[in-house]
Amino acid sequence: ESKLQLVHRHIRQFPDFPKKGILFRDICPILKDPAALTAVIDLFEEHARKNYKQVDLVIGLDARGFLFGPLLAQRLGVGFVLVRKKGKLPGATVSVAYDLEYGTAEAEIQEDAVAPGQKVLLIDDLLATGGTLFAACELMRKQQAEVLGCMVIIELKELNGSDKLKPHSVFSLLQY
Ligand code: 5GP
Repeated sequence: ESKLQLVHRHIRQFPDFPKKGILFRDICPILKDPAALTAVIDLFEEHARKNYKQVDLVIGLDARGFLFGPLLAQRLGVGFVLVRKKGKLPGATVSVAYDLEYGTAEAEIQEDAVAPGQKVLLIDDLLATGGTLFAACELMRKQQAEVLGCMVIIELKELNGSDKLKPHSVFSLLQY
């Protein structure tokens, strides 16, 4: 079995969650299985090492980007930074409003978290409309960081999130 097949086998689907008509992809089984979790991080690391000469920081998105981002950052030997939903981070922050697949929100980062010119990789569990990652890219633009690319486990192709993120690239392990 390939690493990708192993990951694929550990994603569950829940119809009508959190709202009617939405098919929710649940990544919790990946976290519960050490081999599947290792496979996810292996695949992310392989992509990062092959495509980016230098990575300064991994940026994880609230909340499931926090589960995978620090593991990848450790593999790459770089730091990890959180982009959180508004009101969770102490000190001076920068924020950006955005639309979700269901609802609206504001993404926030600590003002001193990323230095101008730093090369960053953004990571989340899933790309749907792209609103969340787009907001994170906006935060990086405000901080004058260089976005190397976005990484997700799952990309929902029919929502065209990767178009919204252009010119930034999206690397996804699985596409639905
Ligand atoms: P977007 O902003 O691209 O429309 O939605 C992506 C965000 O919503 C991600 O932070 C992701 O965690 C969450 N999300 C939306 N739909 C799903 C889903 O089906 N499964 C999971 N695990 N997360 C989802």
